[in-house]
Amino acid sequence: MSLAEQVKQSGIVGAGGAGFPTHIKLNAKAEWYLANGAECEPLMHKDRELMLHFAPEIIHGLKLAAEAVGATKMAIGVKAKNKTAIAALEAAAKDTPVQIVQFGDYYPAGDEYELVYSITNRSIPPAGIPLDIGVVVNNVETLYQIHQASNGVPVTDTFLTITGMVRQPMTRRVPIGMSVSELIELAGGSLAADFAVMDSGLLMGKLIADLNQPVTKTTGGLIVLPASHELIKRYSTPEKSMSRIGKSACDQCSFCTELCPRYLLGYDVQPHKVMRSLGFSLTGAPLWNRYALLCCGCGLCTLYACPESLFPREACEKGIEDLRNAGNAKWEGSHNIKPHPMRNARRVPLKRLMNKLGITQYDAHAGWIEDEVLPGRVVLPLQQHIGKPAEPVVKMGEAVQKGQPIARMPDGQLGATIHASISGKITQIDSAITIEKD
Ligand code: SF4
Ligand code: SF4
Repeated sequence: MSLAEQVKQSGIVGAGGAGFPTHIKLNAKAEWYLANGAECEPLMHKDRELMLHFAPEIIHGLKLAAEAVGATKMAIGVKAKNKTAIAALEAAAKDTPVQIVQFGDYYPAGDEYELVYSITNRSIPPAGIPLDIGVVVNNVETLYQIHQASNGVPVTDTFLTITGMVRQPMTRRVPIGMSVSELIELAGGSLAADFAVMDSGLLMGKLIADLNQPVTKTTGGLIVLPASHELIKRYSTPEKSMSRIGKSACDQCSFCTELCPRYLLGYDVQPHKVMRSLGFSLTGAPLWNRYALLCCGCGLCTLYACPESLFPREACEKGIEDLRNAGNAKWEGSHNIKPHPMRNARRVPLKRLMNKLGITQYDAHAGWIEDEVLPGRVVLPLQQHIGKPAEPVVKMGEAVQKGQPIARMPDGQLGATIHASISGKITQIDSAITIEKD
């Protein structure tokens, strides 16, 4: 069986956030295969711990994947500060063609466009994908899963950092489908009586609305903050208020553009122009919104650059949505990508970013915990990936074993198989499948 087929049967999707089915990437042809271990979200240490504890598996997954696409060059991008993880990777990569490329501690070193340019010196075309320039990229967790798939082991667990205001910050593997509240208890519970939880990052993650929601294949971490924290207040701001404040307070200083990592990489992203679409120029929203099309949503403009605490990232997201709804979201701007001469000087060090966000006091080690978690119940959403929801292949009351497929994709549809993450009985099937331990 080909690696792509093994990966498809194992239900692997990009663990770095988007959830793109991985087997599709393995059917391509490329020159470079890159592992993204340049974790850059503040407080998140999941990739560092994975590289430290599973370096041989990650390097093996990378070599298998590179072979599948015919790539002769392979590299793993990692931050120089993660010295013990680098030592583990170097030992595992000895006598292999895998290069370990070290980055400084800045945000967003892990953005795919940044990572590809930093390692290969090639720019992904505007609105393109790495494959357009002969490159495939996977997160290090995905490469670990590719190694597992090569041994017939499907995706049943996700790796998480649970940190912030919890008694015992930690990084560990947990069954997919456990609830956020159970996992916070697993980390000793919240130290704040009134708290909020961010899913997978403080800049590119989301505020969790319901603590009963399950973690999925793409959840990378849970960060607990006091409900009164400024970041939580900003994420709770209604869209109407963001627009109203932006319309009245944006003075077009353009700091948001001058510090935008995509702009500095040479792409025509100009959030200060997108802010004009909020209405203070009365006309031209579709024109101004075009400056949002290549935004990666990193959040630096909103959470770091803007001196008025406005919401240029959110204006970009809304601008893109409006263009899509109007069927007008195709990139028609320049394809001449030339990094800005000040790119290196304007990089945002992680320490400075954490200081600005007021989270330095929560920067705990969050080390690896090896023991197995056995929850009484898991809820597995049928859609944990880009594409269509998977279709259940089990019935109510049926007994299932951990690792058994419980939902599959119809032939020809984009998506990923879902496997039971614990052994037990099926007790509910709707937009998710619930399994309760016997
Ligand atoms: S940094 Fe803030 S005030 Fe300045 S242009 Fe951007 S959104 Fe407007
Ligand atoms: S979120 Fe802001 S800083 Fe980040 S890429 Fe988009 S416009 Fe640039």
